[in-house]
Amino acid sequence: MVLGKKEETARRPINLATTTFILLCLGSISSALAIDEKRKTSDLSAALVDAQRSAKIQKFCQEQRNSFKELKWSIDPCDGAEWQIGGTSVKSRPLVYAEFGNPQSKNSTLIVSMVHGDEITPMYLSAQIAKWLKDNKDLLADAHVILAPLVNPDSFLHKPRSRTNSRGVDVNRNFGTKDWDRLAKQAWKKRYGANPRRFPGNAPDSEPETRFQKELIDKFQPQKVLAIHAPLNFLDYDGPNMLSLHKFPKEYVAECLRLRQAIKAEHSHYYPGSLGNYAGRERGIPTITLELPSADPRKGDKFWQEFKPGLRTMIDYKVQPAGG
Ligand SMILES: [Zn+2]
Repeated sequence: MVLGKKEETARRPINLATTTFILLCLGSISSALAIDEKRKTSDLSAALVDAQRSAKIQKFCQEQRNSFKELKWSIDPCDGAEWQIGGTSVKSRPLVYAEFGNPQSKNSTLIVSMVHGDEITPMYLSAQIAKWLKDNKDLLADAHVILAPLVNPDSFLHKPRSRTNSRGVDVNRNFGTKDWDRLAKQAWKKRYGANPRRFPGNAPDSEPETRFQKELIDKFQPQKVLAIHAPLNFLDYDGPNMLSLHKFPKEYVAECLRLRQAIKAEHSHYYPGSLGNYAGRERGIPTITLELPSADPRKGDKFWQEFKPGLRTMIDYKVQPAGG
């Protein structure tokens, strides 16, 4: 009995240790299995998210193809790039963008178009730009281009097309610029006689199509911005100038003004809540607005040929960042 007791006592630690060891092993096996299971689940959900995203883009591309067909454009709107989703429009359409060239390059240009859904020709230009950038990768060894071709899809794809988004807001008057609260509605009433086509919204940054552009600027920190519109036929510059020397270093202002000169842009005026005001005036990113001479879809190819050299100049031009 004593022996037996002794034996029992002597054996207990071994049994305990063995049990603990087995339990630990089982524990780690089961947690490994759990991790594996988790990984499988997260792989699966990532694949599902990917599939949903690609289905969304495919559906969106098809909608655009139908529009292009009606406009008698032979170019495929989705052939030129790997589209990413950067937001969702009021009517739940994807707000897409694509990157081209070298993402490490500091020479980055953000191009946005179709902020106003009824302007039409900028859509053609953007489809050509995407294809051109995809086919000419060698031109972009030291340049990074981010293109958001259809900022306001709900209005472009709606019949009839409209300038404002589907909530009736002019997306290019909705940026939360510092003067928005004080001046946006006042300017809308005084300058435009409360024309609904220019309604700036009930609050700054209220529209997803506006926030999408702001997020692209935050994410990519572009050195230059090009916004393509129609049909006012001018090239406008918003950005650092001789009046903003108190805000930006002199050398940087000179660089921006050289870009303005290289592409022969004028400066007219800025509006509360506009991209030029937000990106150009407040953030000091030279922002060029290209207003094509017409919204006539038959002129798309003519404009593309005409503005391609200027676009090339804009992409190639390196603006030395302030303090850089
Ligand atoms: Zn416009």
